[in-house]
Amino acid sequence: MRLVIIGGVAAGMSAAARARRLDKALEVVVLERGPAVSYGACGLPYYLSGRVKSLDELVVYTPEYFRRERNITVRTGAEVAAISHPQRQVALAGGERLHYDRLVIATGARPDRRAIEGAGLPHVFALHTLEDGRRLREFLDRQRPRRAAVIGAGYIGLEIADALRSSGLEVTVFESEPDVLGRQDRELTKSVQARLAAHRIELRLESRVGAIEPGRVAGVACDLVVLAAGVRPNVELAAEARVDLGRTGAIRVSERMETNLTGVYAAGDCVETVHLVTGGPIYLPLGTTANKMGRVAGANAAGARERFAGVVGTFIVQVCGLGLGMTGLSAVQARKEGFDPVSARIEARDRPRYFDGRPTTVELVADRRTRRLLGGAVIGEDGVAGRLNVIAAALGARIGVDQFEQLDLAYAPPFAPVWDPLLVAAQQLAKLLD
Ligand code: FAD
Repeated sequence: MRLVIIGGVAAGMSAAARARRLDKALEVVVLERGPAVSYGACGLPYYLSGRVKSLDELVVYTPEYFRRERNITVRTGAEVAAISHPQRQVALAGGERLHYDRLVIATGARPDRRAIEGAGLPHVFALHTLEDGRRLREFLDRQRPRRAAVIGAGYIGLEIADALRSSGLEVTVFESEPDVLGRQDRELTKSVQARLAAHRIELRLESRVGAIEPGRVAGVACDLVVLAAGVRPNVELAAEARVDLGRTGAIRVSERMETNLTGVYAAGDCVETVHLVTGGPIYLPLGTTANKMGRVAGANAAGARERFAGVVGTFIVQVCGLGLGMTGLSAVQARKEGFDPVSARIEARDRPRYFDGRPTTVELVADRRTRRLLGGAVIGEDGVAGRLNVIAAALGARIGVDQFEQLDLAYAPPFAPVWDPLLVAAQQLAKLLD
């Protein structure tokens, strides 16, 4: 029995490792078109800022490690050009054909360069792979640009802007939407905007960039441009093999991560999943999800019966020292999904005042009729991930505001005030619902 996996980063290598663990006799072959596997792209902005000293630090395991220690064959520079499911074969770009019994498609995503003229100019970069990181770092070191334009104010765009600013560049961020982080709630994100301004990062909202000229973006002089206008799932290979795509344009899979083709699984940034709050499909390309999906795909490809239920949409980012995390639905999103949302936003301290407590913002959203919690956001300098994770767990457990208000959360002065900001927000929300 041979399992072939296309793509060797988060989803692909998680699938390979899990399949190998469950079935020692299975032949596991990973085909990766790039030069490296198993690396953390999430660390790339920190390589730009200099916090991560070498790209090697981002590589978790090498192909040699997988061969030697895990008995997994990893072939880099191996691009799959076609999948022929009737024959259970993949065709490599060089013409070689390889039989599979089970297949995992983990082809990931690529930066979206559509509709931006001049995206191919030599001073225009994306930051998606280790190679991208190397090229951009070299450009910074050799060309010493002074002014950078970042296109896109999603979490990756803001991380890049922060990294470039901390390296001394003047930075302008262009965002086509009226708010950063796709949030549509400027009141909530105003602290992020204030933090950007305090670090002298210029933010231009509602500013769609259609073209990049040499030395200029939308009238602003710049000698470096970084594209961070979202990603598109790499689905062409799958679609040509008659793998069904979902409403979002990414590959549709079952809870077992299986596509419509029996024995063909897919995982990571190339697939859509279920939003556990709305019950509908969502495309949320994140490393955390890719690893979990890959693990389930690998297990099932090795004969197990595991499931990946979906996500509540949790993500977190740090911008110029300020942490911002969101999970579930915002009030605007909830209304679009047919809920009757009520939201409470509170400002509190993340620790007692006498323990150097800093301001933190918590927002909770619930449905008026059912009082079920629908989403939340946390902004602050400390404790953001811990608080956000509590909300995410509550969403996964589908609990209501009244239950949330009763949570037995930790308290000691170095960590939290006696009334945790989450509980204060829940009390406020309960009052509004009453
Ligand atoms: P990918 O990492 O895209 O890997 C897919 C692989 O498939 C690629 O190496 C590609 O070369 C290969 N491939 C594609 N087609 C073929 C083919 N035909 N033949 C052979 N090989 C092929 N996520 C978080 O959760 N938190 C973060 O803080 C975070 N920060 C990020 C910061 C940056 C700058 C970036 C770029 C991403 C970040 N992410 C973060 C997202 C995370 O890195 C991705 O979600 C994750 O890498 C997805 O893994 P994947 O295996 O599905 O896809």
